[in-house]
Amino acid sequence: MNHPATILFIAGAFAALVFIIIRLRISQAAYQREVDGWKARLQADLDQARGERDRLLNALGDAVFLIDKESVIRFANKSASAMFGGRELVGRPVREAFLDPRLSQPLFLCLESGEPVQSQVVLSQQTSPRGDQETRGVNAWVIDAAPLVVSKDEMPVIRVVIRDVTAEHQLEQIRKDFVANASHELRTPLAIINGYLENLIEDDMLSEPAMARRFLEIMRKHTERISRIVEDMLVISRLESGEANALKIEPFKLRSCISDILERLESVIREHSATVNVNLADPEVVLHGDRFYFTQVLFNLVENALKQNPRPGLQIAIGSRNANDKIEIWVSDSGVGIPSADLPHIFRRFYRVEKHHSQQEIKGTGLGLSIVKRAIEAHHGTVGVTSTPGKETKFLITLPLAH
Ligand code: ADP
Repeated sequence: MNHPATILFIAGAFAALVFIIIRLRISQAAYQREVDGWKARLQADLDQARGERDRLLNALGDAVFLIDKESVIRFANKSASAMFGGRELVGRPVREAFLDPRLSQPLFLCLESGEPVQSQVVLSQQTSPRGDQETRGVNAWVIDAAPLVVSKDEMPVIRVVIRDVTAEHQLEQIRKDFVANASHELRTPLAIINGYLENLIEDDMLSEPAMARRFLEIMRKHTERISRIVEDMLVISRLESGEANALKIEPFKLRSCISDILERLESVIREHSATVNVNLADPEVVLHGDRFYFTQVLFNLVENALKQNPRPGLQIAIGSRNANDKIEIWVSDSGVGIPSADLPHIFRRFYRVEKHHSQQEIKGTGLGLSIVKRAIEAHHGTVGVTSTPGKETKFLITLPLAH
């Protein structure tokens, strides 16, 4: 009698077990699905965070690297690969990727000491990672390396930011050169004036009026020179300041501007027996710009032609023509010209072709063409020069007509 009951019980228990197993399997599968879902969501979040990090770091103008303790590059942003000419950087040791030890040295210092390191590196064009892409002589970089704070079980890494400071470095260099050159240019006439003053006072020259007068005249010439240098430096500084009110824009006729300078230079033109031909395609052409600076530009160009060519018979041509929406204005002369080696430097401040001159022979401040260039650039134009010595030296200004 008990037998069927036992069988029934066992069957019931078995059925319950099967049911439990099936339920367990179902919930295990559901759990697995949920875990997979979490994993996928976590991965998506991680990918998104990584993507955002990369986008952010790639948007930076500075080169950013992550470097592990074996000095292998683990991450490099877009600016970093651009800096190294698109070379593959990730996975490579710093020493191999950076090539120049001067660039990698601060990183090793940081890796060894565990302390932040900052240094500026100036490399010549050939040795800089950009190679010959740069047109100027040197590249300057600020390298900033610092350890990243990581948890105990993570590998220590350092982050490195390399900033290109070439433009700032060049500006600083130009400023230093300018101060050095300006001091030198001012010191020379000052020393001469001092010398004559000493003669006048200590050698009691005042009792010889003829001699004293000659000395005073020389001194006056050199004081005038100092005033001209200071005046020219102020004009350059005003033009470079970029102030909106540095220029007084107004319409004026090019012809009237030319007449003014020819009037001012009339006696020198006569002295040199030079001829000046003016040929404007449109004699009524109107320019919109600062008349004062334009007059100075044309004055400097015509005066230079006369100054550099004292021999009689010089021919000077001033002309203009419209080219599309631009106007070209030129001043050319038939004089000694400018050697081709000097042409690229001719617009630099204090640059002169003849470097060895006695005090009596100094003809200008060396700032005339700098003023020309800056004044034309302030009017959104360009100026260039071509020269065939003895034939034609031509300064060509191109300006947008709207200005
Ligand atoms: P400077 O005050 O000495 O004239 P600039 O900047 O005006 O200075 O000119 C720089 C140099 O360029 C001059 O010293 C001169 O050697 C050369 N130069 C400029 N214009 C001419 C020209 N028309 N013919 C020959 N040389 C020129």
